Amino acid sequence: EKRKLLRIRSLNATTLDGTQVELLANIELPQEIEQARENGAMGVGLFRSEFLYLNRGDLPDEDEQYAAYSAVVKGMRGLPVTIRTFDLGADKSLNNNHRTSTNPALGLRAIRMSLAEPAMFLTQLRAILRASKHGCARILIPMLSSDHEINQTLQMVKLAKQSLLDEKKPFDQNIQIGCMIEIPAAALCLEQFMQKLDFISIGTNDLIQYTLAIDRVDETVAHLFDPLHPAVLWLLARTIRLASKADVPVSVCGEMAGDSRYTRLLLGMGLQRFSMYPAQLLTVKREILGSHLPNIMPLTQKILRAAESDKIHGLLQKLNS
Ligand code: PEP
Ligand code: MG
Repeated sequence: EKRKLLRIRSLNATTLDGTQVELLANIELPQEIEQARENGAMGVGLFRSEFLYLNRGDLPDEDEQYAAYSAVVKGMRGLPVTIRTFDLGADKSLNNNHRTSTNPALGLRAIRMSLAEPAMFLTQLRAILRASKHGCARILIPMLSSDHEINQTLQMVKLAKQSLLDEKKPFDQNIQIGCMIEIPAAALCLEQFMQKLDFISIGTNDLIQYTLAIDRVDETVAHLFDPLHPAVLWLLARTIRLASKADVPVSVCGEMAGDSRYTRLLLGMGLQRFSMYPAQLLTVKREILGSHLPNIMPLTQKILRAAESDKIHGLLQKLNS
């Protein structure tokens, strides 16, 4: 079984009808790019940079971050490397300065934290920009929820670029900046967001959490965490459709992208970029190689029109058979 999978490692991820799909890797630490490359990843779709911090308890300085980002960018040899700025939460606060919150997932997290700690944010942006000279780096912003946050974020990127220009330090002036679509408000305001950003990546883990009001780390409601809830499917399909129409690159980097039960459903919604743990790449590729879009599309539309969970599960089984 494993050997069979390894045989497809060097094949392009193309459907039976000839649609090219891009398979990317989610990584948490630089050394994981080895496994990503071994499994044929066409780039890094999500580098969860906060793991540089979570594994040691204090923030790496600019040079340490530059070293980590450069290692990944160089290691991927010109393939795109999407570095997500820190997704630190209220429960993982800086300098042991514990901020308490009754709803950490709704608190000072991700870009909210970065904007509240501008020195930390600028340091990270400078490190990413400096690493961009070694290949193809892209900046991904987690948890954006409003136009105001986008403006503030872009202003910080501008400041970081200007400081490097002043110091005559090289970087990719055209570095792409994208955002995670993981809050329903962002999905609903997608058109405005896309006017200011270069690409989007859908974080289904949080999108499901926030759409269904199910805490993703609370075991007592884990059975209610449902990727196939009609509201989730509707937001996903809408986001993929609007981005494709606007020619804005869109990927899914939440767990759904690496779960082969959902590969055809996402293909049927028009998704052509999937980002997942390296170990999942070949299983998803095998699913893509055996898929025929003209067959999948009509069934996917049926699933999107279905309102009942049993019906959706039945149709999905048909789609996957
Ligand atoms: C997501 O929310 O789907 C995602 C990819 O980000 P994380 O799991 O790191 O929150
Ligand atoms: Mg997330």
